[in-house]
Amino acid sequence: EDKSPLTDHQAHQRKALKGEATQKLSLAHGITRALKNDEFELHYQPICNISDGCVAGFEALVRWRHPTDGLVPPMDFLWLAEQTGLIRELGLWTLERACRDWPNLRQLTNHETPFISVNLSATQLTSKTLVNDVKAVIARYGMPTTQLKLELTETVMIEHPEVAQEILSSLVELGSNLALDDYGTGYSGLDHLQRYPIGTLKIDRAFISRMLESEQSQEIVRSSIALAHSLGMNVVAEGIETRAVRDALSNMGCEFGQGWHFGKPVALQDLVLLCGV
Ligand code: C2E
Ligand code: MG
Ligand code: MG
Ligand code: MG
Repeated sequence: EDKSPLTDHQAHQRKALKGEATQKLSLAHGITRALKNDEFELHYQPICNISDGCVAGFEALVRWRHPTDGLVPPMDFLWLAEQTGLIRELGLWTLERACRDWPNLRQLTNHETPFISVNLSATQLTSKTLVNDVKAVIARYGMPTTQLKLELTETVMIEHPEVAQEILSSLVELGSNLALDDYGTGYSGLDHLQRYPIGTLKIDRAFISRMLESEQSQEIVRSSIALAHSLGMNVVAEGIETRAVRDALSNMGCEFGQGWHFGKPVALQDLVLLCGV
């Protein structure tokens, strides 16, 4: 019976799988080539004091300036960079570029020492060389470690709790700060907040964007802020698009905000042109 011809369905499935594999392979080649040809760039989004709107820091967000496809958002390629391990090289590039750009970002703000936030993926966080890599980059660019914030999600704490604890503690010993990204969308285990040296909670955009329409979202935001404060952390609300949302968060005692209301992520040279920043 093994020799029986494939049904249409089976043939279709096989073709789809093969197509998927081919697509992945070509994307992986693309990322490798992009690293070599310097096709990635960082855009910076201001993170502001909710109360007075002054810029307190910036989040570095990677984009791919593809030679034919234009500007490719991170969601379209990071997943494969993760799967293939290319994220290690890309993540290091991101960190280097952010530290290199920091003196320029600093000049743009009234705030004497803005912080810069860099996203770390779960794969990077389990890399044995991460701590030394971060040390080397910091030393090379003279980046004040206290102004470096590393953003991570709960995934790594779930999948590799011991490794994560060791590495995160070493990063904090270097003087840098940790932020828990996308809070509320993952496991939101209260245990993590206690167990890891996290200084900042970033409440996910999903709750912020709905908070004026949904009583439930509003309560989640309110209690997350209270929880963070009771554990000695500060809070960044992600995805603030309107003045009304900003005001509501201000009334809840949220310290920092990020979102289109304050500014979209833009390239360094465009940030220079934006007055107010
Ligand atoms: P994230 O770290 O949660 O970053 C915030 C995302 O929300 C960014 O999307 C930003 O452009 C978007 N955003 C900010 N304010 C608003 C708003 O008011 N409205 C709306 N609709 N969106 C807003 P982006 O740049 O597409 O990045 C997506 C994700 O990709 C990031 O989410 C982060 O998880 C990941 N990422 C970006 N750069 C890097 C990187 O260098 N390394 C790693 N490992 N991940 C990165
Ligand atoms: Mg982030
Ligand atoms: Mg986030
Ligand atoms: Mg998010």
